[in-house]
Amino acid sequence: MEVQLLEATENPEEVICTGARNDYMSEFVGDQSFEETMESVDGETIEDKKATLIGHLLNHGHFGPFEHPQITFAVKGISRSCMAQITRHRHVSFDVQSMRYVAFDDVDPADVEDGEMVVTPPSASDPNWVGRNQKAGQVDDETVERREEIFQRSVRQSVEDYQELLDLGMPPEDARFVLPIGTEVNMVMSMNARMLMHVADMRGEADAQWEIRGLTEDILDIAEEWCPITFEYYNEHMKGRKNRLAP
Ligand SMILES: Cc1cc2nc3c(=O)[nH]c(=O)nc-3n(C[C@H](O)[C@H](O)[C@H](O)COP(=O)(O)OP(=O)(O)OC[C@H]3O[C@@H](n4cnc5c(N)ncnc54)[C@H](O)[C@@H]3O)c2cc1C
Repeated sequence: MEVQLLEATENPEEVICTGARNDYMSEFVGDQSFEETMESVDGETIEDKKATLIGHLLNHGHFGPFEHPQITFAVKGISRSCMAQITRHRHVSFDVQSMRYVAFDDVDPADVEDGEMVVTPPSASDPNWVGRNQKAGQVDDETVERREEIFQRSVRQSVEDYQELLDLGMPPEDARFVLPIGTEVNMVMSMNARMLMHVADMRGEADAQWEIRGLTEDILDIAEEWCPITFEYYNEHMKGRKNRLAP
């Protein structure tokens, strides 16, 4: 998987603070500089004042101002299973690579065994991997070798069958029915900072699957660079709780 930042609101934390200050001022924020808008907030520098206000908002569950800044990510090579999970979030906007208009007809099925086109879960090759809802714990090397063999055989066969159906003139939108749920997909997704925290609440947790947790960690890393006060506070004080979108 690869996650890239495509676009994001400039000065997101000025936008958050301006929105929040608007709620408590008789003056119109549109007529003031950011420094004037923040004048009565505690702190020596403007960065201190931003930290004071943002910490206060997050601590009190005043999440509305975090809906103003938007961020867009390009996500490469997640499984269709992970895509099904992330697209359940209704306040995130998505563009998902089509399997009707994009045919995987030039992939060599031999490469699929080595991880091309289909995501390989760690439990297919790691004997120490213990997943959620797994009956057994760690397994011996012989068992994991057998798992890997079955997984590789199965995904290769699916891709061979898919390509044969394409050769027989079946439309890609129908031939795709034989492909595994681990088939890779690329996406573009946009959300606001509040929603990003909600996705992290739900999908960064131990009970979420390893792949969407990895995706969440990657978007959180980017978010921390984009909106540093907010996401440093989130990571330090809020991460690990469950679904606190509203107080
Ligand atoms: C560990 C885990 C396991 C899961 N397993 C399953 C499963 O087995 N089967 C399954 O179907 N789903 C499963 N889900 C998905 C889950 O049920 C949610 O659909 C998904 O996490 C989207 O989050 P959300 O409900 O917070 O909604 P979002 O779409 O992210 O919306 C954010 C918030 O807005 C509010 N909201 C949005 N729409 C409405 C609405 N129509 N009415 C009222 N409030 C609304 C809610 O407060 C909601 O929390 C799982 C999720 C997790 C994290």
